[in-house]
Amino acid sequence: MTSRGAVGRATTAFPSTTGVAYLPFLTGCFPGRCNVPSIRWLDRQRYRGNWWRERNHVRSYCGWQAGHIDTDIAPAARTLFELIPDSLALFTPITRGLSAGRDPTQRARRFWGSMGHYLQWHQPGDDLVSRRLVQSIDQSWRFIFAQFPAVDGYTHQKHPSAPRVLRALGRVDAMVGKLRARIAARDESDDTLILLVSDHGASPVHTHLDLAAWFRTHHVRPLAHPTLWTRNPGVAVMVAGNGSAMLYARPNEPRPERWPLQRLRAPGAFGTDEDIIAALVAEAGVAFAVAADAEGGLVVVDRDGEARLTMTNGKLGYHPLTSDPLALGGTLVGNAAEWLRWTHDGQWPDAAVQLWDQFRAERTGDLVVVAREGWDFRDAFEVPEHRSGHGSLHRAHMLIPLWSNMPLPPGPHRSVDVFAQVLDWLGESMPSNCDAAR
Ligand SMILES: [Zn+2]
Repeated sequence: MTSRGAVGRATTAFPSTTGVAYLPFLTGCFPGRCNVPSIRWLDRQRYRGNWWRERNHVRSYCGWQAGHIDTDIAPAARTLFELIPDSLALFTPITRGLSAGRDPTQRARRFWGSMGHYLQWHQPGDDLVSRRLVQSIDQSWRFIFAQFPAVDGYTHQKHPSAPRVLRALGRVDAMVGKLRARIAARDESDDTLILLVSDHGASPVHTHLDLAAWFRTHHVRPLAHPTLWTRNPGVAVMVAGNGSAMLYARPNEPRPERWPLQRLRAPGAFGTDEDIIAALVAEAGVAFAVAADAEGGLVVVDRDGEARLTMTNGKLGYHPLTSDPLALGGTLVGNAAEWLRWTHDGQWPDAAVQLWDQFRAERTGDLVVVAREGWDFRDAFEVPEHRSGHGSLHRAHMLIPLWSNMPLPPGPHRSVDVFAQVLDWLGESMPSNCDAAR
């Protein structure tokens, strides 16, 4: 590490999970603005319960629909691969704007992805990316994007500090050393920018609160992956990471708008007489749930009560009413940069901004449920079992490393700012309507 570089922590986007959490680096936009609010979602306006004929209206990027993410991203968002035609990607889950020649490891990525998934063997994928990256650095690319999946894969198997995780991290570190030596040998004054960033943190899971199973015990039939053929479901449960989930009430009945919290609490909303929201936030594993209100704001609900989020003249406001679920101690009103400064070191980094973004996407569910640290929302059908995970809004999942071999503007930073750093370094202008800050 040279004295002119920078090392620190940044925040990622919500949900803090692979796929969606790559959108900030690659498009400069948060997931909600991209209209890709999660790795699983349901098209509330189109899905009518014909689970086979309408299977395209229920999305999961974990499987055969993985490639759909490119066309699902809002057309207004532009990827770095579209903005920089001389760019190369190695192992990227988002490929919009890449030709096959600029995405040479995509088949290998799918192969090693399945090997990692079923055989829990992730290092070969990383080793392949390392080799290709070190070779490619001497070619004429203006921008190279490389993903190293092993740290995440090994973390899910055990613990973020497990020996195999640390070994995979050590190999990434050694690769960076090799890369820098190669660049220095080429030309002492070379000004290649290297940015090292993660898409999410991780923490151990001690208890699975399987939300689909939970609904069954509350006499509500859930539609949840992989069993989409449920008859007359009362709720669709779309889990991410697995530390968060989006819920859609009565998913077989298409409707253009989300139901506000009051409607979701009313008897019959999920096909049961119980106030499901009250029962859900009373669970030890649920930190809070978020829904729209009838006045254009959001309500954050925890076991003690509610707080409101509002947007007035570009300023996001947080107003504790009967509770303070985001643990901020009182009302706060500010712009996105202020929110990051206020909350970066707190319990729920950037939560208000990220929740507001989440509800910008029309595909977002009626309710977003956020897990407390140590818990996740999926047990059944999870192969291999997640002993550690991510996807939530708490700091163990939201804080990520950010390392640069060149100076960075003063922080704190979000992962979305990496997009601006890359374009700045290349002398390219930023597209309008982005969430990235210079
Ligand atoms: Zn993961």
